[in-house]
Amino acid sequence: MWKANNLPERLHENVATVRGRIAAATARAGRRTEDVRLVAVTKYVGLEEIRALVAAGCTDLGESRPQQLWNRAAELRDLPIRWHIIGHIQRNKVERTLPLATMIHSLDSLRLAEAIDGAAGKMDRKIPVLLEVNMSRESAKHGFTPEEIEPLLPKLIELAHIEIRGLMCMAGLEGGGDEARRDFANLRTLRDRLQASCPDHLRMDELSMGMSGDYEIAIEEGATIIRIGSALFE
Ligand SMILES: *Cc1c(COP(=O)(O)O)cnc(C)c1O
Repeated sequence: MWKANNLPERLHENVATVRGRIAAATARAGRRTEDVRLVAVTKYVGLEEIRALVAAGCTDLGESRPQQLWNRAAELRDLPIRWHIIGHIQRNKVERTLPLATMIHSLDSLRLAEAIDGAAGKMDRKIPVLLEVNMSRESAKHGFTPEEIEPLLPKLIELAHIEIRGLMCMAGLEGGGDEARRDFANLRTLRDRLQASCPDHLRMDELSMGMSGDYEIAIEEGATIIRIGSALFE
């Protein structure tokens, strides 16, 4: 896929293209460019690509598999990377993963929340998390159903070592842009409703939604964090 010698240039170009599209989409939506954070998803690529990505200015990086994150964080500890966990975490991997994580986007059960709370307590940390919502209701996907969250919220809020910062979703793949737009709009509406019913000190400001194929739509619908993999490595 890559000629090794033009890797840095290609990545620079792709990052610039994505950032340009983010700027255009925020402008269309009447939003500020700096209100959308780019998380570069590195699960498809190797260490060389990740180093080039950081050199191109991407330091918020996303991994979906805890074990892969452990290995990479160790190999790349000389770099100022903020790692985001964007995939399902088994509870027995929590303890080793938390020290490496800036934010967990994929909190998908009360039991996982309790495991994270316990491990974060031992570290004397409060971990920023997003609740993953299965908006498209595909059985292969992780996440809470939209109805599940409101009744669970009081229990989640009680956990002192997690900080609920917002919601995350992946849009349905089948319906194309229209379905993605509907899922993103519904996630935002759900967030607004939950925000209204939770205590004021809890700010569910973040909406992590939008990937390579649909991030401009997500930005138009209110995304504050987009997670981009393949568009950066074309
Ligand atoms: C892989 C992945 C992404 C990035 O997907 P692309 O379509 O390659 O941009 C984003 N979010 C999650 C949860 C992922 O697993």
